[in-house]
Amino acid sequence: MKFIYCPICGKELDEKSIGDEGLVRYCIDCDKPYFDGPASCVEVLVINENNQILLLKQNYISKTHWGVVSGYVSNGETLEETVIREVLEETGQQVEKMLYVESYYFKPNELIMAGFIAFVKAKPFNNSNEVDDIMWCEIDEVNKYIARVNNMSGIHFDNSMKLLNL
Ligand SMILES: [Zn+2]
Repeated sequence: MKFIYCPICGKELDEKSIGDEGLVRYCIDCDKPYFDGPASCVEVLVINENNQILLLKQNYISKTHWGVVSGYVSNGETLEETVIREVLEETGQQVEKMLYVESYYFKPNELIMAGFIAFVKAKPFNNSNEVDDIMWCEIDEVNKYIARVNNMSGIHFDNSMKLLNL
């Protein structure tokens, strides 16, 4: 995201040279730099004790394909806290253990996505209004459903399976 005006005082930003960062947008009045970094997200492959994969249908993302749990990191939260919160909010599952896989840069929305695997014991799904459908899917069926175009779910599923040797 590129800042043009200071989000605190509304003044048009100048540029200032800051260390190794080079020229950075800067508010003289607030003495505050604004970095045009990506928004932070998590991408979470949820797997249960029977090695089934949780897939979500979210029509605002795709009307035809299913994806994994994802969400924005709230200010003040660690990545691990985001994983636990998003999995609970979107699915009703309680994360028992997690594993970091790798990160993805999603250019269309300027997101840096930290990819995790979350291990859960299957519980009844909750009714999140961000989720239009939800299911447990056998590993060898996932490719029929998972989004691979304009979506990091497919590649994150592949990388997670490699890491787990499944
Ligand atoms: Zn300002």
